[in-house]
Amino acid sequence: MSDSTEKTLVRLSENLDLAKVYRIALAFYREERAEIKKIRKNKLLHFRDVDISKFPLMQDLSLSIDKEYFFYFKKIAAALMHLEPSIEDQIRKEKNIGFAEFKACSYRFLYEGLIKESDQLLFFLLNKTYRPALIMFKNRYGYRIKSYIKENYRDNRCPVCWAAADIGYLSSEDSARILVCPRCDMQWRYLRTGCSVCGTKESESMDIYVKGDKRIYYCKKCGGSLPVIDMREKFGDFNPITERVEASILKIG
Ligand SMILES: [Zn+2]
Ligand SMILES: [Zn+2]
Repeated sequence: MSDSTEKTLVRLSENLDLAKVYRIALAFYREERAEIKKIRKNKLLHFRDVDISKFPLMQDLSLSIDKEYFFYFKKIAAALMHLEPSIEDQIRKEKNIGFAEFKACSYRFLYEGLIKESDQLLFFLLNKTYRPALIMFKNRYGYRIKSYIKENYRDNRCPVCWAAADIGYLSSEDSARILVCPRCDMQWRYLRTGCSVCGTKESESMDIYVKGDKRIYYCKKCGGSLPVIDMREKFGDFNPITERVEASILKIG
């Protein structure tokens, strides 16, 4: 592992409108809270029995894909069209898929990891669509494995839903590197070095770029990267909403 001095972390673009990025993140956060309330009130969520000794906790068909998620998917797509009119046509294409196709995509997303470059927009929409249900699933079962995973679990995938982390932080408690799940917000401990994308443990494969409290761990083996926030000198707890926004505007350059 090396702390690279030639390159550093810079803004994605000088003209980037940070206020707009925040506005979009908060708009989706509000949708998410409203959907969680609705699911709770109408008792819409039904999970199959969960075996808490088996990871990930979410196994095939833990969550049945029904019309409720289809309607929410359309709502999310409409909200994005409003917020990002410049890509309206691409969003409309995804928004107009039928229920059968939506079910097939959802299955791939939930249980087979739909993470291809070309599927980025669909991935974004499905992530927003299923976050409320997966956060509720994590809240219901995640705490039961909390002390077990703190001691024993060091996988690069989420123990609840098996997604790869989209952000991490260094804990102010003991400097451990904590990974955060993009789908259910579960947090778990990982190796201090090593790649959270491909799972390599070789620290020589990793470059770490640092700017203030932000870091990007870049893996030379797979080309994957992970933003990591150093919380050791920061006041307060890790806030996934604001830290995701701040990290999303940085690149190695
Ligand atoms: Zn997860
Ligand atoms: Zn890697």
